[in-house]
Amino acid sequence: MKTAEEYRQNLYKLKANVYIDGDIVSRNDSRLQGAINTICHTFDKINDEKYKALLIAHSHILDKPINRFTHIHQSTEDLLAKQEMTREICHLTGGCIFRCMGIDAMNALSVITHKAEMMTGRPYNQRFLQYLKYFQEQDIVGCCAQTDPKGDRSLRPHQQADPDLYLRVVEHREDGIVVRGAKNHITAASIAEELIVTPTRFLTPEEDAYAVSFAIPADSPGVYLVTRASNMKERENYICPAGSFGDVETTVIFDDAFIPNERVFLGGYEGEHQFGGFLALLFALYHRHSYTGCKPSSTDIILGYSALVSEYNGIENTKHVQSKLAELISCAELVYAAGIAAAHKATKDESGTMIPDPVFCNVGRKHAGKNYYHELEILADLSGGLPATLPFEKDFFDQKIGPLLQKYIKRKEEIPAEDVYKLYRTLSDVLCSSIGGVIAVAGVHGGGSPVMEDIAILKQYDLEKRKDIAKYLSGISEQQP
Ligand SMILES: Cc1cc2nc3c(=O)[nH]c(=O)nc-3n(C[C@H](O)[C@H](O)[C@H](O)COP(=O)(O)OP(=O)(O)OC[C@H]3O[C@@H](n4cnc5c(N)ncnc54)[C@H](O)[C@@H]3O)c2cc1C
Repeated sequence: MKTAEEYRQNLYKLKANVYIDGDIVSRNDSRLQGAINTICHTFDKINDEKYKALLIAHSHILDKPINRFTHIHQSTEDLLAKQEMTREICHLTGGCIFRCMGIDAMNALSVITHKAEMMTGRPYNQRFLQYLKYFQEQDIVGCCAQTDPKGDRSLRPHQQADPDLYLRVVEHREDGIVVRGAKNHITAASIAEELIVTPTRFLTPEEDAYAVSFAIPADSPGVYLVTRASNMKERENYICPAGSFGDVETTVIFDDAFIPNERVFLGGYEGEHQFGGFLALLFALYHRHSYTGCKPSSTDIILGYSALVSEYNGIENTKHVQSKLAELISCAELVYAAGIAAAHKATKDESGTMIPDPVFCNVGRKHAGKNYYHELEILADLSGGLPATLPFEKDFFDQKIGPLLQKYIKRKEEIPAEDVYKLYRTLSDVLCSSIGGVIAVAGVHGGGSPVMEDIAILKQYDLEKRKDIAKYLSGISEQQP
């Protein structure tokens, strides 16, 4: 399997098509290294006894061990392992591990290309399976570029004043398609080897050209990656794992990019709008299942900080602290439980891929999203004001001022001043940094804005049965529900 160093070298060889704040840069730019370091965990931990059983899966097409971040779920156990792996690995980085989006898109494509090939006769599934072999053999890091700019939200794609506000096919050629448009907010696009592209919403018959899906190398001609990198404020003395975490989101522009047939999984041909819509929903479903792993992990981290800062401050046994810690535990474990339930209630698609239960996935993701800012509020409450006002590191080491700061930062006598500073420094990163803000917004919108979860829940839920219960209990109907 690929090593972290091989991934890094592959990235550094890609053509410079990343734009950051006025510069055109290669992937060895310092602003991208935090996020690259994060992804490297998914390669490094393959050799770690603690993680290897979770990180290694058995490929159903290559019949050999592969990295689970390239695996198509074949069973309930696969879904459970993916969820647990996500929760465990995210503990090491303090945030998103950046590799779920790609494999969630691949799982959705395994199902939709199968249906599309059966119904259109176009070899979408054959192409996908060829690509999957490459993806698994080469242990590829992919991102999922789904979210279109969307223009006026009250209008459908074909009604927009500028039809390019949703990515579309502008030309069908013998050997492939030409696409024009953009995708916003794409996590890890500028540190991925491949961009995997899917539609963003349900489509109508006028919108066949928007039913387009493909995978291409991230430095393909006509592709521009306009990137916002967020990193922790640099540390000089107190180097720590959380301090090296970084995040990158990208506006991916496809300026009449050519996609060769072998990489086209939905080509925007007549009648294909229906597959585009299903693909959009299915990627979101797999991604929300991933959230039932990574969000409990975020809550574990917030819980850990909350409990530790309370201990250092000598308040851990007070009633209100205990109640807040219990609230955090309840949130983490309910979201995790929803993911477990989604895996146990999963169905096997005719393609062979396991599809997690949509209601459990969506209620889990909804609960996590609704609570994220509240979790930060608990942490801010228990930490006091110091995350916002903590003196900078150099002052803590200043010959004259340093000892005074160490004296006045003390909490419980037995806790060294240095440990108090280290903890509050990390709390500052979580609560008061620009990257902390990015992660909080991601907690709400990643995987779709909250209303999308409501729509998905209501669409799949048997509301009529609940009305029948009401009718039976209130004597409107004698029919038992
Ligand atoms: C940090 C971060 C990382 C992300 N990573 C990825 C990624 O890797 N890949 C990817 O594809 N996407 C990614 N996203 C995008 C994410 O899925 C979107 O932000 C989300 O779907 C919301 O879309 P939007 O940002 O366009 O906001 P909008 O869709 O504009 O939402 C704003 C508000 O408008 C409401 N709204 C929108 N349309 C309507 C309507 N027609 N009627 C009524 N109300 C409406 C929404 O419900 C919401 O309340 C990421 C987002 C963030 C913040």
